[in-house]
Amino acid sequence: MIALALRAASDAPAPFVTRLTRKPDSDPALSHFLAATQAGSLWSGAQGLFEVASAAEDLIGDVVLVDPFEGRADRLIRSASRHNTLVVTEQCDQLCAMCSQPPKKTHVDRFDLLETACLLADQGITIGISGGEPTLHRARLFAMLESVLEARPDLTFHVLSNAQHFTADDALRLRSPCYRNVVWGIPVYAADAASHDAIVGKAGAFERLMVSFTHLLRAGARIELRTVLSSSTAERLDTLASFIARNLAHIEQWSVMGLENIGFARSRWSELHLDLRRDFDAVSKALDRAILHGIRPRLFNIPLCHVPEAYRSYAVASISDWKQRFSDKCAPCAARPDCSGFFEWHPPELVEEVFPL
Ligand code: SF4
Repeated sequence: MIALALRAASDAPAPFVTRLTRKPDSDPALSHFLAATQAGSLWSGAQGLFEVASAAEDLIGDVVLVDPFEGRADRLIRSASRHNTLVVTEQCDQLCAMCSQPPKKTHVDRFDLLETACLLADQGITIGISGGEPTLHRARLFAMLESVLEARPDLTFHVLSNAQHFTADDALRLRSPCYRNVVWGIPVYAADAASHDAIVGKAGAFERLMVSFTHLLRAGARIELRTVLSSSTAERLDTLASFIARNLAHIEQWSVMGLENIGFARSRWSELHLDLRRDFDAVSKALDRAILHGIRPRLFNIPLCHVPEAYRSYAVASISDWKQRFSDKCAPCAARPDCSGFFEWHPPELVEEVFPL
């Protein structure tokens, strides 16, 4: 597993964001490598000297948030990684049964620091925005996206949102051309309000979601729908596919996702987890229906050898590199570059049951 938070030491008076480079540069947003140390590496920048507990070679090109009070450096944007996600808040107004990052009550506003980080990103990358629920802080979020995209139109954002807060006014704002570079990843778990609301732990959530879809549709927003597979969503997946085809045909993609064995799902794993190697019928039926209606489905977080051959072309190597894991038995597998593998925290018995292709 790749560590995203490293021990760090700095005398700076406040947290700061900087990009780590090999050589000195006149740009004050950059810091350059000075020397290897016992703890890791020493860097110099506009905020003075600071030390990070990692070898410089692993950090060159990274955009880091150094917090002198916490003694920590967060690798916000790792150079050469396709998987960079910024958590803008840990607050959320839903309590999803399978939430991988259970919410917290308090919010620490880091939007200004995160904006600086985005401005320092590599050319042309996609930056994920996640939470908690990012749109609980809509004004700050929209301002950050607009400001970054004005300066960096080469970037794209993928924002995960429960879509409980979009308004008619937002629809006007989201028509701005810069939002062509923003994809909203929105979970929907069932075609009926009672089932969806039960899974997200919020009465009225489905109804509010439909209102938001109307606003987003008016804005011409780019939408990816997301459905996490569990025992409770699988049995309704085909009905959901019909619902999407009938009502949400304008979406860019429907991502059907394997369950992550962390957060709330960990304690309910045996109840929620579906063994797709033994029963793929509910998924295949829903995928067939989606495809028939011109919806673009994708399978996330499911190893290729757990997917029947006819559906492997829909499976994506979606698990972020820092939390991705393979079995030793995967070594001879020709499909490994295209395979999601497993989450670092997947149960070992599942990780060991692989069938190299
Ligand atoms: S054997 Fe390993 S790399 Fe190959 S498809 Fe299965 S999980 Fe993926």
